[in-house]
Amino acid sequence: MKNILVTGGAGYIGSHTSIELLEGGYNVICVDNFSNSSKDIFDVIHDLTGKHVTWYEADVCDVEALRKIVKAHDIDCVIHFAGYKAVGESVEKPLMYYQNNIDSTLALCEVCLENSINNIVFSSSATVYGAPQYLPLDEHHSLSATNPYGNCKLFIEHILKDVHVAHPEMNIALLRYFNPVGAHPSHRLGESPKGIPNNLMPYICQTASGLREQLSIFGDDYDTVDGTGVRDYIHVVDLAKGHAAAIKKLATAPGCVVYNLGTGNGTSVLELVRTFITENNVDVPFAIAPRRAGDIAECWADPASAKEELGWEAQYTIVDMVRDSWEAQKRMNTNEKVTVASEAV
Ligand code: NAD
Ligand code: UDP
Repeated sequence: MKNILVTGGAGYIGSHTSIELLEGGYNVICVDNFSNSSKDIFDVIHDLTGKHVTWYEADVCDVEALRKIVKAHDIDCVIHFAGYKAVGESVEKPLMYYQNNIDSTLALCEVCLENSINNIVFSSSATVYGAPQYLPLDEHHSLSATNPYGNCKLFIEHILKDVHVAHPEMNIALLRYFNPVGAHPSHRLGESPKGIPNNLMPYICQTASGLREQLSIFGDDYDTVDGTGVRDYIHVVDLAKGHAAAIKKLATAPGCVVYNLGTGNGTSVLELVRTFITENNVDVPFAIAPRRAGDIAECWADPASAKEELGWEAQYTIVDMVRDSWEAQKRMNTNEKVTVASEAV
């Protein structure tokens, strides 16, 4: 494996994974339509690694565009990050989600099959487990989804499993991420959601920055350690390393494989907020609010399969995660001010 096509490589997880791949000696060819990212990221990646990502501005749903990109490179493996990811927006605009997330996967599979690209890594999510029947969640847990975003992940898993059945030479890794947070240790790239963040960590960061007045903690009456929701937060650099490990696994032609990428530890909302405040020495005003519709009480991974079969294990702690998220946010705040200032002139 040498040449890796990364769809959505300019995004949050894709950019961190591209760095990991370049540092691992792979060539990275990225296709992104920049619907939720910026081309500037490639300069940052070059600064950090001294290596170039070869990138194309194109829609992954565009089969012709994909064909041209694939023909220009001898692609060994595809990592498919591209897609829309906001749960709330998916409820409001289901067709937009099904169209983008499913069509892009179908287009990618078609072009892979035409060109004998036999290795695909897919960004799935712990959302495919629905409400946990038991904890920790292992890969054998039953699957269900409660919103269009989750349905897309579930459908795409089915599509890729079916592709493997019809084309057994196709090796596929379905990676089920738990809650990605944090940023590259340089703090030059991180998570920068457009509009009001849905997810907890970006909301905490924006509240600490003064961009949001206060954080609402959605529910303190769950049957959990302190009544607030519990999740398995995983540092994005650990997640990126998980993709590099998955590529190595695919090189052994394992067929269709599924791995949880989580730490195995649950952290409550209050624990995360308090750690953020203490470690970063910054205030985060918060108030308890009603439960958010559709939320589960708690969820964390059994990451044993990834450890045994990929030799991968998360290394970063919650303290690392809150520090790197905050440091990257502070840098983003500065850059945003610079941009606004120049626009005003
Ligand atoms: P992101 O929005 O930062 O990155 C996605 C990238 O895909 C963006 O650069 C966007 O411009 C691009 N894109 C979207 N549709 C495209 C299309 N049709 N053609 C070309 N490019 C397109 O998201 P992320 O957080 O990096 O997530 C990456 C993947 O991981 C997504 O599939 C997401 O559903 C999945 N995932 C994310 C999380 C999370 O919490 N961040 C959790 C589980 C799974
Ligand atoms: N959460 C919260 N306030 C927010 C955003 C999230 O209290 O503004 C809680 C949410 O109820 C859940 C946890 O934080 O218990 C993680 O939520 P997130 O949306 O980040 O991830 P997901 O629900 O997809 O696991």
